[in-house]
Amino acid sequence: MRLTLVVPCYNEVDVVARFHQAVSHELAATEEPYEVIYVDDGSKDGTLDALAAIAAADPSVRYLSFSRNFGKEAAMLAGLRHAGGDAVILMDADLQHPPELIGRMLELHGRGFDQVIARRTRAGDPATRTLLARTYYWMINKWADVELMDGVGDFRLISRRAVDGLLKLEEYNRFSKGLFAWIGFESIVFEYENVKREDGRSRWSFRKLFEYGLDGLLSFNNKPLRAAIYMGMLLTLIAVAYAIWVIIVAATQGVEMPGYVTLIAAITGLGGLQMVMLGVMGEYIGRIYYESKHRPHYLIKESNLAPPGVVLGGA
Ligand code: UDP
Ligand code: MG
Repeated sequence: MRLTLVVPCYNEVDVVARFHQAVSHELAATEEPYEVIYVDDGSKDGTLDALAAIAAADPSVRYLSFSRNFGKEAAMLAGLRHAGGDAVILMDADLQHPPELIGRMLELHGRGFDQVIARRTRAGDPATRTLLARTYYWMINKWADVELMDGVGDFRLISRRAVDGLLKLEEYNRFSKGLFAWIGFESIVFEYENVKREDGRSRWSFRKLFEYGLDGLLSFNNKPLRAAIYMGMLLTLIAVAYAIWVIIVAATQGVEMPGYVTLIAAITGLGGLQMVMLGVMGEYIGRIYYESKHRPHYLIKESNLAPPGVVLGGA
């Protein structure tokens, strides 16, 4: 069985050599042929040179480099497209995905699983972030059409046929957590201890996480649009009930004219709700706009990709 490791790298010059050493060690231990594909996602710190050096010293290394930063989703897509293995493992370059787990993944794959998913525990994460994440996943699993799991990221082994399935999903806006769930196939999840990142803070700011969460909600269903319908119906009902009540009060106790606060609250509340729903609709339209352009997901600036038909390196 041939294995392909796909590693997206963005500004990882400090760790990429160390990563390659650790990973080569584990891959050699499997005694299977392998290749490692590094995708340089437009790094500005010399990651590309580091990758070229690694590739010069190791024939099992292939790399490609984007013309600019296209994002991790695009980098993973490029790696999957060029992967020649019977199974592919997606892995971060920053050593937060322990290379020691490769053997375990292969073993589980051997038992017939098409997706072997590594799930990190949230040990060491800030409590607020854990709580937010839990709430988010609870919510999204109530709403969305595909089930997403807390702590599950891109670190996983994917069989050839599952990769081929993924590659058939050509949407521009790629929310891979959802894509992985969408393709189906036999999957198994195993847990590993959370690894703290070595250099300072995560690149995920709160805003980025929020937007990512929104992406997850909007990429896989149109329920938010439906929510607008229900909310509209509910508000109409409330308005009618309120009007009836006011008429009854006016008929029995005569007409008074307070209600200034009620009026302002109703106007601002409704205005806010309408803005939110307009935004939701705008999000969907924006997605249609991007999809309809049919732009490529990335542009390759440089690579050492072997021409088709060349035998894979490795053990
Ligand atoms: N990455 C990438 N393009 C980007 C951002 C990140 O290819 O625009 C890569 C990065 O080099 C790393 C992986 O994606 O290998 C995960 O990134 P990071 O560690 O910043 O994310 P986190 O671990 O906080 O989820
Ligand atoms: Mg990381």
